[in-house]
Amino acid sequence: MPEGDTIFRTARALGRALTGKPITGFLPTYPKLVRYNEDAPLAGQWVVSIESRGKWLLIEFSGGGILATHMLMNGSWHIYRPGQHWQQPRANMRIVLETADYLAVGFRVPVVEMHTSESLRRDRRIPGLEIDVLSGRFDAPAAMERLLARADEAVADVLLHQDVLAGVGNVFKSEVCFATGVHPYCKVAWLGKDEARALIAAAQKLIGSNVLEDSGGMMVTYGGRARRTTHESHPGASLWVYGRAGEPCRRCGERIRRRIQGPEARVTFWCPSCQRMPDGTDIDG
Ligand SMILES: [Zn+2]
Repeated sequence: MPEGDTIFRTARALGRALTGKPITGFLPTYPKLVRYNEDAPLAGQWVVSIESRGKWLLIEFSGGGILATHMLMNGSWHIYRPGQHWQQPRANMRIVLETADYLAVGFRVPVVEMHTSESLRRDRRIPGLEIDVLSGRFDAPAAMERLLARADEAVADVLLHQDVLAGVGNVFKSEVCFATGVHPYCKVAWLGKDEARALIAAAQKLIGSNVLEDSGGMMVTYGGRARRTTHESHPGASLWVYGRAGEPCRRCGERIRRRIQGPEARVTFWCPSCQRMPDGTDIDG
């Protein structure tokens, strides 16, 4: 599943190609969008802005409509020049947005909605900018309060709640816990304020460093930017713990553990030596 950094980079690339440009064609396959386009054609309007909100991508049109898409597991947006070969089969195409210079193609995008600014504000599933760790308007103290309010839940589970902190996905969840020295199974109630603050700051820093201009398409928390050029195929090659079960911790040499965690049964990785439970209990990995 794409995490917040991937959606952010997609929004930036689409924004550069399309913002301010008159729309010459709009081809949706969803009946709801087809009807919308018949009533208020997007051709002739222009793209006002494209932004990410956590794992949502929002495209705002000059007529006031805002196209909200969520990629879930398999969806993606691509940008092509007219006539350029597509990297996915035509059967996967769900939406095409055309300008004179570019085509934005949404492949297998499973969640697609047309909003107004009013309905967007009311929609509780699409996080506001103050909740998005990648937004310049992210409110860290408020995020800390939302985190601490989930006292009975495990830290790693709460980091995935997009209404607490938008943008953290399953990879960054484990990486943020490691960076902070917090055990992923630690209850939020056992966190001090400093640890809670550090978790939020680590999420902002680790995800933020993955949307820099030179950050490419690969997730990196360990080893810095230079490693990106080596094109490591191992998923954990540039990460501290994720995907590294049984391998030695990059800090202390202890073997990294792995376990399926939480109500959504997501995989979690941690170092049992660098990340200890406050009550001294141990969790089998
Ligand atoms: Zn360690």
